[in-house]
Amino acid sequence: MYPLSPARIYVLERVYQDSRWVKRLERILRSLNNAPDPVIITGKNLPEVLEELKTLWPPATVPPELPKSFTRPLVFTTMELHLPRPNLKNLLDKCPKGTSLGELENIYGHMSTAIDQHPHSRDQENNCVCWPTYNFGTIVGCSHGCLYCGEGREGKFLSVALNLEEIMEKVVRPVIEANPWNRVFRMILQGADLITFEPEYGLFDLFSQTLASYPERYGHFHTSSANVDWLAELKHKERLVGVWSVSCEKVAQEIELGTGKATDRFDAARKCQEIGIPVRFKFKPVIPVKDWQKEYAAVIDYALKNTQPESIGFCLYIWNTFESMSRTLPLDLLDPECVQAAREAQEEMKGKRCGPFPHETRKNIYRFLIQEVRRRNKEILLYLSTETREMWDELKDELGQDPRFYICGCSSVAVPGKKLALNPGLRYSTYNVTPV
Ligand code: SF4
Repeated sequence: MYPLSPARIYVLERVYQDSRWVKRLERILRSLNNAPDPVIITGKNLPEVLEELKTLWPPATVPPELPKSFTRPLVFTTMELHLPRPNLKNLLDKCPKGTSLGELENIYGHMSTAIDQHPHSRDQENNCVCWPTYNFGTIVGCSHGCLYCGEGREGKFLSVALNLEEIMEKVVRPVIEANPWNRVFRMILQGADLITFEPEYGLFDLFSQTLASYPERYGHFHTSSANVDWLAELKHKERLVGVWSVSCEKVAQEIELGTGKATDRFDAARKCQEIGIPVRFKFKPVIPVKDWQKEYAAVIDYALKNTQPESIGFCLYIWNTFESMSRTLPLDLLDPECVQAAREAQEEMKGKRCGPFPHETRKNIYRFLIQEVRRRNKEILLYLSTETREMWDELKDELGQDPRFYICGCSSVAVPGKKLALNPGLRYSTYNVTPV
């Protein structure tokens, strides 16, 4: 796993109830960089812990070479699987001023277990072209410090659930069994980059074993990390698909702090394809930094010289306004023309999910990226990720896919081998108005 150097480590008392959880905890602690002794969270010291958590991150200084995000405190907990979950509101009254219910929920493992992501109805409303799918997650927060991500930028701590065997039995299995149309499941929730904790965490070993107990069921690991050497040892690695969020070098170095070099991810993907794991890339978010044409052409060239991805997708920096972009990204790094276009389009993009860059700016950038891939490779499957219907209408011929049933990166029906496992439960992407 990453050589994290957390400012403090906390363990919720109940973790010690099960030797499997304790072993998992000990494996992780052994691999950390100068791990401080854990503080056990009890009902008694909870207020002090919360007080302290407010002050620990971001740190005033970090040693050179250590990404600041690696120092985020870690809270080890168990996912609360009893329903109804205990009401934490009473506990909140006893906590220091300024404590949020969300912080308590993360400490006590009230995490999202699985969510129905991208249902047709919601995507229709949001003009978002994607595929319905089920997402799982077991960690809240991330060890990367990407400036465009709330967790990366501001997360005060990571909460790591250790009761993975229980999660497989009580969450993953029932969801797989209840949704036979879903062939590939995403392990992705809550802003976490889960493979950064492997192999000590052991999540993907259990996840792939669980998937392997059903015919033709697969799982995505979705990452910006290059931490993949452990995958070779997995008994059921054939059940996994690697999806990388990739970017150009300037974005990786200046905006995705703590993720390493942009090329590291392609090198990691090459290692995965050498051991038989299908790999896919998503340029998401594409950020038009200065010289973006040169930057993205260079990284596309590197990707295609070193790997054979099943697909490559694109999605501009979206889900923002000009104001939120100005607050969170260093605008002086960005292409002045694109920034100006976003500034001028503030009124036009008001209330639109795909802001801050207007349609024409996004389209021109997609067009460039498509051409850069096509100059080097005529066959590779290309797609837009979570873009609008109008964008697909304009670019589908250049992309070479039908937006109603396209093969992309992390969809529920994109099975290994560049195939779509369409079935009566799911025949179309959310481009289609009718779900089946
Ligand atoms: S890669 Fe496909 S399924 Fe995954 S988010 Fe993008 S459009 Fe949706």
